[in-house]
This record gives sequence, C-alpha cells and structure tokens, in this order.
Amino acid sequence: MAGEILIKPDLQFVKRVMAAGGDTVKQCYQCDTCSVVCNLTPDQKPFPRKEMLQAQWGLKEVLSDPDIWLCHQCSDCTVYCPRGANPGEVLAVLRQMTIEKYATPPLLAKAVGDPKFLPLLILFPMVLLFLALKLTGHWNIPEGTIVYSKLFPTLLVDFIFVPAFFFAVAVLAKGVMAFWQDINAPHPWRVKVEGNLVGNLIATLQDIIFHNRFRTCETTYTRSTNHLFLVFGFIFLLIVTTWGFLNEWVLHNEPPYFLLSPLKLLAMAGTASLLYGIWNIVKERQANAAKAGYGSYYDWFLIYVIFTVGATGLLAWLFRLVGIRILAYPTYFLHLTAVFMLFFYAPYTKMAHIVYRTVAMLHARMSGRGF
Ligand code: SF4
Ligand code: SF4
Repeated sequence: MAGEILIKPDLQFVKRVMAAGGDTVKQCYQCDTCSVVCNLTPDQKPFPRKEMLQAQWGLKEVLSDPDIWLCHQCSDCTVYCPRGANPGEVLAVLRQMTIEKYATPPLLAKAVGDPKFLPLLILFPMVLLFLALKLTGHWNIPEGTIVYSKLFPTLLVDFIFVPAFFFAVAVLAKGVMAFWQDINAPHPWRVKVEGNLVGNLIATLQDIIFHNRFRTCETTYTRSTNHLFLVFGFIFLLIVTTWGFLNEWVLHNEPPYFLLSPLKLLAMAGTASLLYGIWNIVKERQANAAKAGYGSYYDWFLIYVIFTVGATGLLAWLFRLVGIRILAYPTYFLHLTAVFMLFFYAPYTKMAHIVYRTVAMLHARMSGRGF
C-alpha cells in the first residue's frame, strides 16, 4: 500500500543504546511531556518523544535524524519526564552512536567511548612524540634559558601536528558529507531543504557563535554561558596558532615572543577563557547531577582532554616564567600530548558535534522548521 513504512526493529541496536548509557529508554511510555517542555524543539515533528520511540523500537534510522543534533542537552525534558526515562541523556547517546556510525575507522570511535582503551589512547601520542624526540636527538632537557623550541623545534611540531590536523579534517568532512546525504535522502519522515545554502550557513553560524538557541534552555542555563567561554577560548587559540604558523612560514619570525606581545596576550586570554569555561562546566555538571544526570564517560573524556590542554598550557607557561626547567619541559611534553589527543581524536569524540550540529541546524533552517 502506498505510504506504508516498513519498520525493521533491531534488538541489538536497542541493547547498544542501553549499554552506552541510554539504559532508561525502555521506561518511556510516550506521554510527550518531553517534547512539550523542550524550548528548542520545532512545532512540526517535535523531538525528543519520536526519537525515544525510534530508539525503543530499535529503528537505526534515528542515527540519520538531524533532530537529535538540535538538542543541546539542557536536560529540561529529563527533569520533567514522569517515567525517569532521561530523554536528554538518550539523545546524547544517539549522538555518540551517530559520530561512531559516520567516523572512519568506526573502531577508533568505539575505543574513544570505552574506558578500557583510555591508556592506549594516551600512550599513542606519547610514544609518537617520544619517538620524534629520540629520532631527532632531542630527548634531553635542554640547558640554559627555557625555550620550548629547543626541545621541540617548530619544524618537528609542524611535522607531527599538521598531518594530524588534516587527518581529523578529512575524517570529519567525509563523515559529515555522508550525514548530509542521509538526512536529505527520501523518507516519509524527512523534510526537504530549500533556499540559499551560503546565506543560510552564515545565519546558522551567527546563531551558533552567540548561542542564541542554547540560551533558551532552563535547567542548565549556565551551561550555555560556560560553553560560550569555551568556544571563544578555542577561537582565540585558533587565531594564535594560525598567527604563529604565518609568523614562522611567511614572516620567518621564530619564537620565543616577548611576554606582552599581542600573540602572547591573545594566547593568555584564550587559555583563561578555555579554563574558566571548562572549570565551570565541570562544577555545573556536578551541581545538577541529581536532576540532569552526571553525563557519560564519553562526555567526560572530552572535558578532561580540554581541561588537560588548558592546565598543562598554563603550567608550562608558569614554569617557564619562573625558570624551573625540570618541570617546564615535561609539562610541555604533556601539553603537546593533550593537544594531539584533542585534534587527532576530534572526529571520534564529542568535539565532532561542532560539525554535525552545524549541519543539522543548517538543515532545520533550510527546511523551514522555525530556525
Ligand atoms: S521520555 Fe518521558 S516525557 Fe518523553 S514521552 Fe517518554 S515518558 Fe514521556
Ligand atoms: S535535553 Fe533540552 S534540548 Fe534536548 S530534548 Fe531535552 S529539553 Fe530539548
């Protein structure tokens, strides 16, 4: 019959949702309270009730549902759910599984979500950096004034980090293009996109950069402000990295830079913003754990990596200022390890939400869903 939808439930999928942290999904009895209280959901085809149903029934297509990315995990729905089904957390699990689905290789995404593999994920960049130092004859604490390029010459850093960065960009691009294709594939539940892609993308990015939608959350309202600090911290540090790269390759102006140089000041502002944001996110998660959930290992993996990047960056700077070589260089080594983890694993961690959420918000805007 025309218009019929063939439903293919997958029990293994339900078990995976439950094992990954969505163990409450079966408690949902479809009352729709969650969709009513959610301030972010569109009027047409609202979430998260329909996603709870799809997850309960083992409908894997939910992983190609852009709506799971329109949720900012504010937990308003979790607070009001009369069955304790934790819809906010279930959607977070579905996003994690989506990242896993579109990542290449998916095994690495599975490893990022499994605490058993944490030692390996830390060891990989450490061994890589160690080998780089050993093979280039730099595996010693340099004498004299502390200058980090004495340990890791800029060329060596570029040699490791530039390919790691482009690897992450390529994996993310491949994943997000497949996601875009899937969310636009013909399906009775899907909505069609129309309009100017570039104009809508600019409007979407404006919305994201100022967290306009994120700010409408209630239960964890402060999360949007703290997240904003984090975003601006990253933007500042991205400018610093690009500036440093241009200094090195175009202007041939090698570090160290003097303490109050604009580059250093921007780096300090970025680090401070990053640390302030992540520190408050940790505190806010702990304070709201009883009503909004504590978050999964997958959430905390990224939080700890970002925190380590900020903390080791700050400590490496302080140890250099006070001249403690024996602490400064090892801290810098740890800092580079954390930075590598942040970038290289980005397509497999919650960091990937930057591109998937952007694409989903763009899709919502272009399909007239009130964005
Ligand atoms: S998740 Fe909770 S609030 Fe939402 S439909 Fe299910 S039972 Fe109702
Ligand atoms: S966590 Fe917040 S944004 Fe996400 S579905 Fe629930 S109420 Fe909506």
